[in-house]
Formats: sequence, C-alpha cells, structure tokens
Amino acid sequence: MNLQMSRRACLAVGTLSAVGLGLAACTPAGEPIYLPSTALTDLAGKLSGRVLLPGDAGFTKAWFPSNGQFADAVPLAIARVANEADVAECVHWCRDNGVAFAVRGGGHSYAGLSTTTGLVIDLSQLNSTSVNRLQWRMTTGGAATNADIFRATKYGQEFLPGGTCLGVGIGGLVLGGGIGYHSRWAGITSDHLVRARMVTASGDIVEASATENADLFWALRGGTGGTFGICTEFEFDLVETPKRDVVYYRVDIAGADAATEMFSAVDALEQDSPPEFVASCYAEPTPLGADTDPRAAVKGWVRGQFLGTMSDFTDLAGPLLRMTGETNRILESRPWWDVAEGFTSAEAENHSWGDVSRYTDQALPGTAIEKLVDLIVDCPQRSEAIHGELWMLGWVGGSVIDRAARTDTAYVHRGMKSMVRPSPIWSNLATAEQVRELEDWTDEVISAVEPHTPRESYQNFPNRRLVDWQEQYYAENLERLIEVKTQWDPEGLFTSAQTIAPRE
Ligand SMILES: Cc1cc2nc3c(=O)[nH]c(=O)nc-3n(C[C@H](O)[C@H](O)[C@H](O)COP(=O)(O)OP(=O)(O)OC[C@H]3O[C@@H](n4cnc5c(N)ncnc54)[C@H](O)[C@@H]3O)c2cc1C
Repeated sequence: MNLQMSRRACLAVGTLSAVGLGLAACTPAGEPIYLPSTALTDLAGKLSGRVLLPGDAGFTKAWFPSNGQFADAVPLAIARVANEADVAECVHWCRDNGVAFAVRGGGHSYAGLSTTTGLVIDLSQLNSTSVNRLQWRMTTGGAATNADIFRATKYGQEFLPGGTCLGVGIGGLVLGGGIGYHSRWAGITSDHLVRARMVTASGDIVEASATENADLFWALRGGTGGTFGICTEFEFDLVETPKRDVVYYRVDIAGADAATEMFSAVDALEQDSPPEFVASCYAEPTPLGADTDPRAAVKGWVRGQFLGTMSDFTDLAGPLLRMTGETNRILESRPWWDVAEGFTSAEAENHSWGDVSRYTDQALPGTAIEKLVDLIVDCPQRSEAIHGELWMLGWVGGSVIDRAARTDTAYVHRGMKSMVRPSPIWSNLATAEQVRELEDWTDEVISAVEPHTPRESYQNFPNRRLVDWQEQYYAENLERLIEVKTQWDPEGLFTSAQTIAPRE
C-alpha cells in the first residue's frame, strides 16, 4: 500500500474512533489498526513530557509542517518528549503497539518526512546548547535550531557552520550534510560532528564517534535523519571566526539578459575560486502588466562574502560588478558576525515548496544557462504567492569540502562545484492545476541541466517525486548505508516515504 492510500485508509478508520470505538492508527507499513482507548493514556503516564491530542492547545502548531503540502497527515497524537528516556519510551510504545511514527526535529523536511498519521515524536524540547570555549566544542540537544546555535555562539571566537533558515533543526541538518554561506570556507555541518547519542530501534542508547560504533558514525554524517535511530545529542568541533572585517556584497539585477550574465558569472567563479569566496544567486519571474515584456519581468540577485580585502575581491569578482542590468548594489567591509547574521532568515509561513536540487561538477555550457533563463521567463506561475524561483548555490564545492573523499562519510557529494535548484513555491491556497504546472516547470529546469551534471541531488532537499532518490542522494555510498541500516534497524522500524530499507 502506498503512503497516499494508507493515509486515506487511516482517515477513514479515524472517523470510527471519533464515535468511541477505539483509537485508529496505522502500522509502519500503512495498514490500519485499532488501539485500546487507554493506549495513549498509558504512554502519557510514562513520559516526563506531554502527549498532545487533536484539539489540545498547541497541537496544530506542533503538527503543522513547514512544507504545507504535507499537512494532510494529521497525527494520532504528538509526544513532546522532555528527555532521552522519553524518546526511548516512545520507541518502545510504537514498537509494542505496532504504530507508525515520525521523528520531528525542526519540522523543515521539504518532503514532509517528519509527518505521519501515527505518533509524532516531537524532539523540540531537546534544544539545549552548551559551548566549551577551551576545547572549541559545542554540545547540542537533538533538536536545537539554527537560531539556538547561532545565539549560543554569537560574537564569540568560534562558530558552527550551518544553514540559513533559523527554524531548521540540527538533527535534520547535520544528519543529511548541512550546507550554507560558510560551508565553502568552513566545511559542511556534518564534517564537524565528533559524537552523537542515539536511541536505537530496540530502545537502547548508544554513542557513535570515530572510536565507538564507527560505521554508524560514518552513516550519521550524510545518511539522513530518521533512518538509523533518534539522535538526542550531538557534539561538534567549532571553527575559528574571522577576526578581520570581511567583504559583503549583494548586487540586484533586472531582466533576462542580466540574469543570464549573473548565472554565467557565478558558475564560472565557482569553478576554481578560493574557498574564501562565496556566492549564491537566484532569479524569479515577476507579475506581467498589460504591456510588459516577459524578458524584462525578471528579477534576482547575487550575494555572498569574501574573506579577504576589498581590492582582492574586486579583482576576483569583477564580472559580478559589471553586469548590465544592475539595479542596486551593496559592497562593503563588515565585521564577520554582522555578515553571518545577515545570511540567516525566517521562512515564509503557509507556503509549500517542491524544490529539486542538482549538483554540478563543471561549468554549464552557455546554451544551458540561456535555456534556464528562458524557463524563468516562461514560468507558468509568476504571482508573488505562487511562482518558480531558480537558485544557483555556490555553497557545495571547493578545497575545504573536498578534503574528505566521497566515501569518507555518507555525504557523498565531493568534487562538486555548484548546485542548481529550481524552487517552486506556492501558497497553501494554490489550486492543484497551479501546483502541477509548477512541478512540470521544475522537471523542465532539471532536464535542461541533466546532460551536463552528475545525477546527484542533496538529501536535505528531498522530493518525493524523485524515483531514483537513493542513487541521487547516496551514489556509491548506498550499499554501505544499507549495511548500516540492516545492522542497527533490521526490521525497518524507522521508515518514511524516503528512508533506506534494511536488507531482507
Ligand atoms: C526554509 C528552509 C530553509 C532551508 N535551508 C537550508 C540550508 O540553508 N542548508 C541546508 O543544508 N539545508 C537547508 N534546509 C533543509 C534542511 O536542512 C532539511 O530540511 C532538514 O532535514 C530539516 O531538519 P528539521 O529537523 O528542521 O526537519 P524535520 O522535518 O523535523 O526532520 C527532517 C528529517 O530528519 C529527521 N530528524 C530530525 N531530527 C532528528 C534527530 N534528532 N534524530 C534523528 N532523526 C531526526 C526527521 O525524522 C526527518 O526525517 C532548509 C529547509 C527549509 C524548509
């Protein structure tokens, strides 16, 4: 039974439970089951944290996923755990009762992988952070957010390279890699993990590091969250923050020709620039007036930082400063922490996303970039609330990330230069037809780069529409990941729409 079917089946049985015949739930395989009506009371009695039921204050906020397209999976209940022992109790309860569950950290999975009609194990209270300034180490709970981590280190001598969105949880981030404006010079988040604590499928608590359960430690650095167990604590080594001011730049552009210039310049710079140079750019179509030329109705920007002097930056990044369609420019030296804060963002609410990412390992031909820009011009949806965006993220390559070989950790995407990412975004009120048009557009964007890119996609930008997702996320590391999964979760208790399965 596929997930869509099982949701419907469970919703149907849920109607029966509402009239007092027991509690309806699903098995991890999606089969509808009944539970004694006391089952959730029993669970609540064992936890230091709380069990939230539909209708309870805070239930909707706790359940509603960041990506609104998966909000149809209303959970049976949410166990808001208070500590590691609670996590283990939840695993025992789900296993003993045969109930499907999802592990929720920051709730930001693009593919809704922390949603379920069963029990949501909500880790949000495990958000502690503790910095050891002598050893340059940080310990976090399993669901500290980017915001918690940023706050804990702000203005200090050391920091943890993470992502941009403040609400993203560290569990989802580090277990799938963790890229951002600092990964090019400071490394991806998972390369800074030194130890993790994990509740296993049998409810035991284990540690993983270079010297303890080394295979599991390998897998936790890129094998993605929700696969091997529930991580309750992480320890990271930290990176020294730049002492001198750094260059911050942002150049806004308008028009299709300027967008072509911008993507071409960023792509060329990503091929062999030093890791101190970071760029990310995007463009989107804007609404058309009666006489607007669609090629003019495109806007975008490129922004980033350079850890060096202004004159070295202008020598290196000259093409970004000579674009014909420039509409605004910020170019200044600033303290690094100010720049880092400027790269953080809160996300749009009540929206859905359908991102697909594609790594590049060489410069795209000019014809491919022209095709990408033509697709922006012709995007079928261009309103403020419903449209397609095209991103080129220069966060994923360079000599620092490539210090590790492709098989050194489960994060396989070494030797890359950049990432192309069509990002369709729609208000949760969009029609099915509008969504379908945007999904088709996303596929066309990926088709335009397909002949020029390795078939690799970032596991932390998952998309349920990818058929060969395992190969795209894990490439030559897939077989070893299946071995580790088989060792730690032989019955496949931890499962979702996209979780590696154990060997049978
Ligand atoms: C608006 C937005 C911006 C983003 N920006 C970036 C970015 O800049 N860089 C980047 O690399 N990624 C980024 N991402 C992607 C993000 O890293 C992933 O979506 C990540 O998996 C989210 O983690 P989460 O805990 O918030 O989400 P959740 O949905 O709670 O979890 C994601 C997956 O990890 C599992 N999981 C979570 N915590 C744990 C844990 N402690 N133990 C075991 N499994 C766990 C869940 O079961 C689920 O399968 C962004 C996503 C969004 C929506």
